[in-house]
Amino acid sequence: MKKAFVTKEQAERIASQFPTPFHLYDEQGIRANAEAVKKAFSWNPGFREYFAVKATPNPVILDILGQYDFGTDCSSLTELMLSKAAGILGDRIMFSSNDTPAEEYTYANELGAIINLDDITHIDFCEKACGGRLPETMSCRFNPGGVFQMSNGIMDNPGDAKYGMTEAQLFDAFRILKEKGVKNFGIHAFLASNTVTNEYYPQLAGQLFELAVRLQKETGAKIRFINLSGGVGIPYRPDQEPNDIAAIGEGVHQAYDAILTAAGMGDVAIYTEMGRYMMGPYGALITRVIHEKHIYKEYIGVDACAVNLMRPAMYGAYHHITVLGKEDAPLDHVYDVTGSLCENNDKFAIDRELPRIEMGDLLFIHDTGAHGFSMGYNYNGKLRSAEILLQSDGTPRMIRRAETPADYFSTLDILGLDLEK
Ligand SMILES: *Cc1c(COP(=O)(O)O)cnc(C)c1O
Repeated sequence: MKKAFVTKEQAERIASQFPTPFHLYDEQGIRANAEAVKKAFSWNPGFREYFAVKATPNPVILDILGQYDFGTDCSSLTELMLSKAAGILGDRIMFSSNDTPAEEYTYANELGAIINLDDITHIDFCEKACGGRLPETMSCRFNPGGVFQMSNGIMDNPGDAKYGMTEAQLFDAFRILKEKGVKNFGIHAFLASNTVTNEYYPQLAGQLFELAVRLQKETGAKIRFINLSGGVGIPYRPDQEPNDIAAIGEGVHQAYDAILTAAGMGDVAIYTEMGRYMMGPYGALITRVIHEKHIYKEYIGVDACAVNLMRPAMYGAYHHITVLGKEDAPLDHVYDVTGSLCENNDKFAIDRELPRIEMGDLLFIHDTGAHGFSMGYNYNGKLRSAEILLQSDGTPRMIRRAETPADYFSTLDILGLDLEK
């Protein structure tokens, strides 16, 4: 059973202050989860979560996570600027980019970020962008190729992914970086996305720990950290079992003792770059039903559309829907829940069993806290919604206003047109 983190009464109260649609975030949930993550890895004194900014790029959210001494994982100029605005600087920034423009390496270096190189050819490129001198701490991204398999089958396909270096390139890269004066090394890999199993991090960790032992032995590079990156998933579907972060942390701990500590490398720090796991369940898209339509299927039209939440249209992703106030009503209707884009994939749900929906009902679309608002766009001239934080004391705080037509037209200012209503 998936439960909404607000009641109909609470949601209506918030909607009377801030018109729908909006993304709503649950501060209590965010904080409890952040504490659980910290505790799960507390066996590792150097542990740090670098929150993947692209999941929820809002400085207030970054600030909340920063209070747990977490850092940020950035991969663009504006993400770096956001991290700076939230006061997260220096080695609390991991710059894990790919196909990186030179000026972004320059800026990351100015902020003192840890730079994670996606490719061996980026060594010279980055050195130039950093004014001819690489920072003392550098990380490299690894791609083992092939498929990534766990006990329940193939999870993902690194061999088809554009990211990272081959193993041979990684060994060469560490030798070259060491010759160029780099003193502290890190290894990073992201091999599977949205893994709803406790096995992913421990298995990835085991693979990276063995690689780290060989790398340090053969290249003499001092490995300071191993970055397990993102990919820890959440149960979007009500029948899925949530991950147990304590079990995941313990699984990584066992691999650490067996491989790193045994090889005399018990001082290596563990880093993570989780986005989805940190924020996904603690956000929801709140939208109001404005139309119903009975043709060859039954349609419910809402005031949000795919520009507010792209995942269903883009990946066919499932997002659970609660009709607020009808949590216990029988699921005796089947609907397509649609937005207003002139695109037939603009459907938040297809053939979904739901209680009978009436005009004016509020829908709580679950698990939009990560990769929700942030994937928004402006197709059909639709505007991005507000983001509202439901604070721990129960009061709502607007942490991003909704776009207005003036925002949409702002890049046409060079034409001097009259774009008034
Ligand atoms: C997207 C991304 C993450 C976060 O992934 P989640 O699946 O949200 O945990 C972390 N690191 C990098 C480099 C990414 O691109």
